[in-house]
Amino acid sequence: MSIRINQNKNTSSLRLNVLYVDMNSFFASCEQQVNYYLREKPIAVCVYPGKYGSVIAPSIEAKKCGIRLGMRLNDAVKLCPDLIPVETHPNRYREFHKEIMAVLRKYCEDVVPKSIDEAFCNFSNYRLVEKDLVDVAKKIKRDIREEVGDYLKCSIGIAPNEFLAKLATDLRKPDGLEVISPENIDTVLSKLTLSDLPGIAKSMAMKLKTFGIETPLQLRHTPPDELKRRCKSMVGLYWHYRLNFSEVDIAMTDYKSMQAMRQISKAQRKNVQSLWDLLASLCLTLEKRMVKQEVYCREIIFNARYEGGKYFHEVIRCDSPVQEGTQILGLIKNRMKLHEQANSGEPVVNSAVNMMGVNVFNFVPDHAVQFDLFDKNVERHQLRKAVNKIREKFGKESIKKATENHEKEAMTDAIGFGSVKHLY
Ligand SMILES: [Mg+2]
Repeated sequence: MSIRINQNKNTSSLRLNVLYVDMNSFFASCEQQVNYYLREKPIAVCVYPGKYGSVIAPSIEAKKCGIRLGMRLNDAVKLCPDLIPVETHPNRYREFHKEIMAVLRKYCEDVVPKSIDEAFCNFSNYRLVEKDLVDVAKKIKRDIREEVGDYLKCSIGIAPNEFLAKLATDLRKPDGLEVISPENIDTVLSKLTLSDLPGIAKSMAMKLKTFGIETPLQLRHTPPDELKRRCKSMVGLYWHYRLNFSEVDIAMTDYKSMQAMRQISKAQRKNVQSLWDLLASLCLTLEKRMVKQEVYCREIIFNARYEGGKYFHEVIRCDSPVQEGTQILGLIKNRMKLHEQANSGEPVVNSAVNMMGVNVFNFVPDHAVQFDLFDKNVERHQLRKAVNKIREKFGKESIKKATENHEKEAMTDAIGFGSVKHLY
């Protein structure tokens, strides 16, 4: 897979190709949409509305009181005594998501959902018809209000590439409509710090500062060779391209999500250790597929179903993109631990589990992943690639990780289904 680097020296030929839609306080707005009583009130969507449950989505009104994602409910209520906890309804959000995507698809053939509440419309193939994307954005906002729900608001960003369009949605919330163009980009960037750029974590910003890059404007205006020399790597370079209107992000179109899942028989679930081995093998299966597709994922979903029909469902947004199976497993385990602590220790993986599944999505091409310079990530990445090559050349059994041997039994029949996109 190759990345398109359209470095446009002549910015007058640049088109505003990408329209990015980010729903505002999505889960909370969906609840307010269906329940009139909740409108204009500070509400907090939680997986468990008990005292130690954590807020997964505050409403716009709750955000104004300082309620943030991840707060424990008892802390949140101290801050905002009128806060109304509301239990989460994942199916409801999925239904709204589908309807919103249907609105976007009326205006664009190439709609790429990035998560349940974000998507972008790529207009770069509409070469002949010059679309006024500001007009399209206004129509999308209108249609979402009229056809999906009058209480649903979104911020829309328009720019020559996906990254800047996403950045534009962050400039004004809720209900924003912003354009980042060659004419205003320097003004926009001059008001931002490095860690305001989506995807640049605080640690990354610190690192760039040690290389003498202090601001987004500097990142944009330092010549690529100079950047490469200072950072002694590609770190910073892709950010520079993004800020100079190159498209380094839209490279994945075929593989929008990958899934590995298994039904578990009564006999199998008696042994809880074998369930852990199975989960590890599902993560490893996804690692192999991602290595093969040359992508990392930014989001993970873990699902478990229990006898009697109960479900466990967690969406994990990764701080930085991941590819390694053990890392995916670690993130899932952390989330389980949090859940168990909040729910009097009842283990998520127990002998009542009859199905487990892991999805990875929101992919980034591996070239575009910012490696932590002081970590072993680069070597580990190269190693996974090499292992994949050996497997392709000498067969699947030719090389294995030590962990795979340990999980031999679970490994052999771990087949992903649900989606067939990975069956190459
Ligand atoms: Mg949002």
